[in-house]
Amino acid sequence: MKFGTKVIHAGIEPDPTTGAIMTPIFQTSTYVQASPGDHQGYEYARTQNPTRSTLEKNLAALENGSHARCFASGMAAVDAVIKLLKPGDEVICTNDLYGGSYRIFTKVFANYGIKFHFVPMNDLARVKEKISGNTRMFWIETPTNPMMNVVDIRAIADLAQVQNAWTVVDNTFATPYFQIPLDLVADMVLHSITKYLGGHSDTVMGAVIVKDVSLDEQLGFLQNSCGAVPGPQDCFLVLRGIKTLHVRMQRHCENGHKVAEYLANHAKVDRIYYPGLETSEGYEVARRQMRDFGGMLSFVLKGDSMEDAFRTLEKLKVFALAESLGGVESLAGHPASMTHASIPKEERMKTGLSDSLIRLSVGIEDSSDLINDLEQAIG
Ligand SMILES: *Cc1c(COP(=O)(O)O)cnc(C)c1O
Repeated sequence: MKFGTKVIHAGIEPDPTTGAIMTPIFQTSTYVQASPGDHQGYEYARTQNPTRSTLEKNLAALENGSHARCFASGMAAVDAVIKLLKPGDEVICTNDLYGGSYRIFTKVFANYGIKFHFVPMNDLARVKEKISGNTRMFWIETPTNPMMNVVDIRAIADLAQVQNAWTVVDNTFATPYFQIPLDLVADMVLHSITKYLGGHSDTVMGAVIVKDVSLDEQLGFLQNSCGAVPGPQDCFLVLRGIKTLHVRMQRHCENGHKVAEYLANHAKVDRIYYPGLETSEGYEVARRQMRDFGGMLSFVLKGDSMEDAFRTLEKLKVFALAESLGGVESLAGHPASMTHASIPKEERMKTGLSDSLIRLSVGIEDSSDLINDLEQAIG
């Protein structure tokens, strides 16, 4: 099956009792057994829920994995993956990481004896410098948030295999429509489903997808033991949202490209970060590992003043000023004070995340309305 067919059909069967084409919402906490232990694979809804399993099968198929596990949020998925490690283990991760991941690594798991090294992962020499006998995991985001740096997944995964370490790719920005990390020999793919996979800004959820059965068993153990599972109504909403993933991503990307071209030629724009521009540093690697470049981009105004950035954000009418990304509606954000406020300024500045950086999640509205909106706001 091709991607556009999988989003609609993979893992999804008509309901056996009624033929309902849409997966029912199994709103139950427990399941009746005929005699103790005599059940149909369903005992208790933290452990198994049919709405959730259908979504997990669909996600596994989209990422070319064999198994998926859904969690109550993207952060709960991150939490489960790091809990595969033990005190003394080390993780090498991208330095311009999603703020919430940076926070859980440095403020939660560092206290449990796990060590995190933050490096620009598009520089392999810098990555190699951090490798030690305790390196157990490589953590990639690509394109990164919000600087849109591109990391060569295959190069890192090859390096990880030599170390007998896992490669984890947070594929939230690209989605499996643009990039399939497991095909590039990564071990785990992580999503904040809240963003593009859900796609309609109405659900918070996360997932981890793998190929390896024993890794899936470990994640399943954590999913059940720690208990951060999503409810069946949310699973239903995501199953519904995913059916249009390929169509939405295509339009996000088309619009993203148009907005990037517009900003690149704007007299008041100093720098623009979008991997789809040929002048962008990550362009070649992005072209190799991605089908196309997506709808996320960031830019800095000339003069680099926070006040100018704030004024622009306040004037936007079609773009809503909000955290998050990946919904059908366009959003604009100010990472330094919003999504990345938990990263100290010195750390942020190392990656170029200046106080005036504006991040856009380009939605699927008519592109001329989006460009007109930017035009009146930037002036
Ligand atoms: C939003 C996000 C997360 C966290 O997901 P939640 O669903 O908000 O918990 C993790 N990684 C990336 C790249 C994100 O954008």
